[in-house]
Amino acid sequence: MEDGEKYPEVVMPSCKTISLLKGQKALVTGANSGIGKAVAIALGQAGADVVVNYFAGDAEAEDVCSEIRQFGVKSFAYKADVSKELEVVNMFQKAISEFGTIDIMVSNAGIQRDAPLEKMTLEQWDAVIQTNLTGQFLCCREAVKEFKRRGVIKDVSCAAGKIICMSSVHQMIPWAGHVNYAASKGGIHLMMMSIAQEVASHRIRVNSIAPGAIRTHINTAAWDTDNAYQSLMKLIPYKRIGEPEDIGKCAAWLASDHADYITGATIYVDGGMTLFPGFEAGG
Ligand code: BGC
Repeated sequence: MEDGEKYPEVVMPSCKTISLLKGQKALVTGANSGIGKAVAIALGQAGADVVVNYFAGDAEAEDVCSEIRQFGVKSFAYKADVSKELEVVNMFQKAISEFGTIDIMVSNAGIQRDAPLEKMTLEQWDAVIQTNLTGQFLCCREAVKEFKRRGVIKDVSCAAGKIICMSSVHQMIPWAGHVNYAASKGGIHLMMMSIAQEVASHRIRVNSIAPGAIRTHINTAAWDTDNAYQSLMKLIPYKRIGEPEDIGKCAAWLASDHADYITGATIYVDGGMTLFPGFEAGG
């Protein structure tokens, strides 16, 4: 380049213009807040119609739907407890009758009920396992039934369906004081891989996203004061907290045909939290 000559302007395509998921129908659980909300919005922005599942918070769920509709796609909210078989079955029936089918299912709903082991009640254990693990099993089962019934429609996607399980870095990092949560995420890991193996020949892709520390209400105490944020940074080589949109963008891509050869994989979206940050200096 000569002095004074201008570099050509680089125009990055936005998700809006790419329409990665045009014409696809998605269902996202736990989508009225946090990571689920960002995923539902990112899928809508990429062109999908989206069912916004939620357990509590009607107004928030409606707000998410309105935001999604601004992208010119359809969206409706559906209240259901993912740990209850009948509610999940009814939710899929409604989604399929409204949208015709479901192409993408993001099993995101999750809770924490933390306590040291000897103080953890059976209720706390059961609540977490039922929502985080049984809930994902039920949603995966209903999604696979629909994907197999419909099969591949080439104009829509190379795959008959895509499942994304929301896992966590705690599917591999042990977490003292959170044994119910870590057990649920460890369970998701092998459940996801086993389902992926079972349904791959039907051209159904099943993957997980394993977020690290993402700025949501579930972990407010880990980031909302300077001290907390500084000690959190010791666990994150990339030296920033994750934003829900980091997960949304990953989900939109993973659900798209750009990721068509990926199944049974876990994508860690964690700023390096799983890179054993304590070994940065030492060992
Ligand atoms: C948990 C958060 C935690 C993060 C990293 C997530 O799965 O829900 O509370 O901050 O893992 O430890």
